[in-house]
Amino acid sequence: MMKQIADILNDLSSENSELSVEIASSLKHHKQAAVEADDQTQAKYLWCLEQIYVIKKHYLDAFSMMRSKNYSSAWRELDYADNHLYNLTRHFDISKNEFHLLFVSNTLKNMQRLYPYIWFTSREGIIKKARCTVCNKVVSIRKGCGHVVGDIYNGEMCCRTVEDYELLRISFVKNPADKYTVLRPKDMEYNYEMLEMLMGHIKKPYEEWDLVITKTLKPEYQGVRGSLQCPCGSGKKYKKCCLLTGENLMDHYQLCFKNVSQTFFTPMKMVSTWKE
Ligand SMILES: [Zn+2]
Ligand SMILES: [Zn+2]
Repeated sequence: MMKQIADILNDLSSENSELSVEIASSLKHHKQAAVEADDQTQAKYLWCLEQIYVIKKHYLDAFSMMRSKNYSSAWRELDYADNHLYNLTRHFDISKNEFHLLFVSNTLKNMQRLYPYIWFTSREGIIKKARCTVCNKVVSIRKGCGHVVGDIYNGEMCCRTVEDYELLRISFVKNPADKYTVLRPKDMEYNYEMLEMLMGHIKKPYEEWDLVITKTLKPEYQGVRGSLQCPCGSGKKYKKCCLLTGENLMDHYQLCFKNVSQTFFTPMKMVSTWKE
């Protein structure tokens, strides 16, 4: 069944925990009509709505996966949502929180911070041949085609399709460009305690909660005066060692929930990355 744009806007603004697939097919249809009428502004607007649909769909999927404790799949969904948000913000102002976009943007980042993932892989290489998705011409740094990557033409975002690539190396990194590259060592299982704590307190995908990360003294440094020997065993005075470098501090995660008077303090270092 074809949905009118007004109905689609209604659906996309709702707090429903599911979005019907008819939205996607209807948007595609409306966009095609705009392109045929050469209405570039409308085609671009409909592209934005498509992104908003996809962002919310990935976020909602992530939320329901987390509810069923499928955290590693939820991570992928959060990353998809994040990537689409990145493309959208170039063309659509999310700061007004229309369609919950600001909420989703902040919430998914906080969810990512609660994951135990530390190490990722990153590839380095040389793009030898790439094609423009708008005009299909082969492009290089010296010879462009005039289309700008990330801009919208006929309701589609301009990208580059890489056809030849030389992989130079793969490195282990802590802040990857691609968050899906998380390392999953054999016979080891991640500990999702922080996410379990979160999901124990929120029931609905658009419920407000917040994460505050502050610094706190590690237990072994508590009550140590600056003139005393540093607890790290360096032999130096505390004030000339870890007090200076910040080695004496650790992250303190605080989850805040609406309608709950209590907040939860969780020193991150005490939660282990791996399950025993
Ligand atoms: Zn082009
Ligand atoms: Zn020290």
